[in-house]
Amino acid sequence: MNGATLAGVLAAARRQLADAGIADAAQDARVLVAGILKLSSTAILTDGSRVLDEAAQSAVAVAIARRAAREPVHRILGHRAFSRLDLALSPETLEPRPDTEVLVDTLVPYAQKMVAGTGSCRILDLGTGTGAICLALLDLVSGATGVGADLSAGALETARRNADINGVADRFEAVESDWFAAVTGVFDIIVSNPPYIVRSVVGTLDDEVRLFDPILALDGGEDGLDAYRAIAAGAGDHLRESGLVAYEIGYDQKDAVTAIMREKGFTRIEAVMDLGGNDRALVFAKTPAP
Ligand code: GLN
Repeated sequence: MNGATLAGVLAAARRQLADAGIADAAQDARVLVAGILKLSSTAILTDGSRVLDEAAQSAVAVAIARRAAREPVHRILGHRAFSRLDLALSPETLEPRPDTEVLVDTLVPYAQKMVAGTGSCRILDLGTGTGAICLALLDLVSGATGVGADLSAGALETARRNADINGVADRFEAVESDWFAAVTGVFDIIVSNPPYIVRSVVGTLDDEVRLFDPILALDGGEDGLDAYRAIAAGAGDHLRESGLVAYEIGYDQKDAVTAIMREKGFTRIEAVMDLGGNDRALVFAKTPAP
């Protein structure tokens, strides 16, 4: 039967996703079938006559049905690439976005300079989720150490697992904390991709985001800025004199977040756009005394 070959299963998967209105049906079908069957992206194209047994066919069917119901590809597979890492995802974690790599890449030179200057760089990642930002920095900056804080115990379990998988567990610590509440000590870099979506907008987000990313990681309160206010209020007490605070922000939050930080004695030293040309990452330093 035609459907039992890889080519047949793939074609059927593509059709099912297209019929369900999935925009990138062909690509999603390829990535899902390859991921479920553990085939390379080459094998998926060149090995079309491979015969799939019933277990393989039903595993693919389950994955394709989940995608048709709008679950994102990498949630179905349970992991995704971020920076140089492979990160496990769980229901408690936001799926890391390529836009967030901009924040990581912006911080690397600062962190490297700190390690070169003092021999260390202590990073605090607030709302760490999968651990993406902190773990990517530890991977890229040898000599840096990090604490990932999160309100969600489930997220911290995933972050710890990701530190293990990616070989940086010896430099990473996970702490259950409501922002700074359970955090001790001072840091060279405090970084966060906090929830920043305006509460009334959360319900209007794409199904892929709204139904599958945790609301806790999206809902930034009435004006989307609650998290920045909370972090700005505590950052001074947990930052070394020459330390930095860095955020991911929503596309229209640059001025508002800069104002919140200025009020707490910080100056913006860098603003970076994402690949789509939206304001996405801000870096602040303590304002020097006049
Ligand atoms: N960038 C996320 C989105 O696509 C939002 C993440 C956040 O609130 N930090 O909606």
